[in-house]
Amino acid sequence: MAKATPAEVFALIKSISYPNNKAKHLVALAAKVLSHFKGQIPMTVDELVQLPGVGRKTANVITSVIDHQPNMAVDTHVFRVSHRLGLVPTTATTPLAVEKWLTKFFPAALIHKAHHWLILHGRYTCVARNPHCSNCGLLSICRYYAKEKKGLKHPL
Ligand code: SF4
Repeated sequence: MAKATPAEVFALIKSISYPNNKAKHLVALAAKVLSHFKGQIPMTVDELVQLPGVGRKTANVITSVIDHQPNMAVDTHVFRVSHRLGLVPTTATTPLAVEKWLTKFFPAALIHKAHHWLILHGRYTCVARNPHCSNCGLLSICRYYAKEKKGLKHPL
């Protein structure tokens, strides 16, 4: 791929979102993997974020899914669910702040699984608009439900 042109890569990935930018990043990424990492994809967050197009969230996903490292990728679902449940304080206003809180309190051995739990809960139950609280198994400990739906103080 390092020898390919962005146009060649674009032709292969044109059905995904933002194919132009991704094609450029992929070619540059492949070149950097060759020049800086001996052709091997690095497996630490600090190294991965040096690659073109790879941000902290992607690096956390790669290291936790492939290598089960205790790294928490915070996407929109993880961010929303963590706040609604009260897993993080309201002062955690950035993905990085949420990541720090979650990795501090989840057992390290479970973090790579917890990432998926939070995403799936956000995708299917605790959806952004009109969360399905009546079908939620976490209702009794949920900060959002207690405050927004019941007008109660946080139950914990
Ligand atoms: S009770 Fe409602 S707001 Fe709370 S986690 Fe469940 S679905 Fe989300």
